[in-house]
Amino acid sequence: MTENVLILGAGYAGTVVANKLAREFRREIARGDLNVTILDKDDMNINQGGFTFLPFGLYTPEDLERPRKEVLSPRINCVFGEKGEITGVDLENRKVQVKSGDTFNYDYLVIATGSTTDISNIPGLSEDYNTFYTSMDDAFKLKEKIDNFEQGRIAISVAQMPVSCPGATVKFAVMLNDYIKFMKTEEMCKNIQISFFWPMEPIGPPEFNKVATKVFEDDNIEVNRNFKLAEVDSKNREIVSQNGDREKYDLLITTPPHKSPQPIIDSGLTDETGWIPVDKFTLQYRGPAGNHNEVYVAGDAGPASVIKSGIGAHYQSLVVSHNLVNDIHGHGTKVSYMGEVGCPYIGAMPTPFTKGQAYIPSWSYGAPPESFEPTKLGWYIYRMYYYIHWDAGLKALF
Ligand SMILES: Cc1cc2nc3c(=O)[nH]c(=O)nc-3n(C[C@H](O)[C@H](O)[C@H](O)COP(=O)(O)OP(=O)(O)OC[C@H]3O[C@@H](n4cnc5c(N)ncnc54)[C@H](O)[C@@H]3O)c2cc1C
Repeated sequence: MTENVLILGAGYAGTVVANKLAREFRREIARGDLNVTILDKDDMNINQGGFTFLPFGLYTPEDLERPRKEVLSPRINCVFGEKGEITGVDLENRKVQVKSGDTFNYDYLVIATGSTTDISNIPGLSEDYNTFYTSMDDAFKLKEKIDNFEQGRIAISVAQMPVSCPGATVKFAVMLNDYIKFMKTEEMCKNIQISFFWPMEPIGPPEFNKVATKVFEDDNIEVNRNFKLAEVDSKNREIVSQNGDREKYDLLITTPPHKSPQPIIDSGLTDETGWIPVDKFTLQYRGPAGNHNEVYVAGDAGPASVIKSGIGAHYQSLVVSHNLVNDIHGHGTKVSYMGEVGCPYIGAMPTPFTKGQAYIPSWSYGAPPESFEPTKLGWYIYRMYYYIHWDAGLKALF
């Protein structure tokens, strides 16, 4: 009898799991003993990690997108568009419903639907919403605003946690500072202040916080901690925190709140934090829809307590694939996800006045990042990674 693995979402995590299974089960798939099907609402894979760099001209759109089919093994059954847009997930009956009205049954399910942004709970934000977080178009619109900005206060606000790659806004602020020094006249630079608004006290784990705090001090970027964005008063150009603090801005750049995609919430898969709970080691579903050993979760869709990043999604996808291989072979053994995540850090971007500097700190459940210094080599490795991403990362070759 043919067994069916169904993967929801063909972004980072879903693609890695699919490609790993396609390689491990090439014989079973060829014999028709196993089907691996992947669903997504559209057919372009976009590397969101590159959005941070677009306003500074460091990648082009061509660097950041590929048709999904080009990065997925031909052994995978791909269903994209309306026929792949998930509208409901019924774990009890092992059924997934899509927009076209079709349903998919499965023996094993991987939920890799990521996160989405939602500004509806911040009054006023839609009236002055500039962000690099949501699409290439938005990142280019923001670039235009930055390029035309002549004087005043640029407020960079991370509205709430958790967000996908919390460190992205930190490196954006550092690069913005270098970019302004390079692109604007000396007179303009004197009249531009960058202010960073962060919703927590520490900026990441202790060593990350230490290095980020130092670079902000050195770059004269003002840091406001524990500023959870509650409202944007666009008429008076003020942001308001949940504590009622008001701060003026001339250009507001926001990292918006994130949430699980609505069909995942509506299917009753999320807990009170709004994210999908799992066994933190095996990544099997453990939530309001019951305990399901045949359902795995990888990537941003997972629990609020695990930092959402492409690096984490990569490690989780390898663990999920490995466990699926064992399940399907009937071995019954499990490998454990140990909380491996990372968050690339940038100390400077290269301009005529600065050398590019970066480092990719990583950590796991019980082992926080060690002390680190961004380096020139780190910058090249980080920049290069976005090219390796397509042919090695997504293909699950490491
Ligand atoms: C601006 C920015 C910068 C970042 N920088 C970095 C970085 O430097 N390093 C790093 O490690 N990480 C970074 N990240 C985070 C990284 O991009 C994510 O953690 C990663 O993409 C998560 O992978 P995922 O597969 O869980 O989700 P995604 O890659 O978002 O994939 C989810 C997929 O599910 C699909 N989907 C959702 N809902 C449905 C539905 N109803 N029906 C069908 N399909 C659906 C989506 O279309 C999408 O293809 C950054 C993110 C952003 C936004």
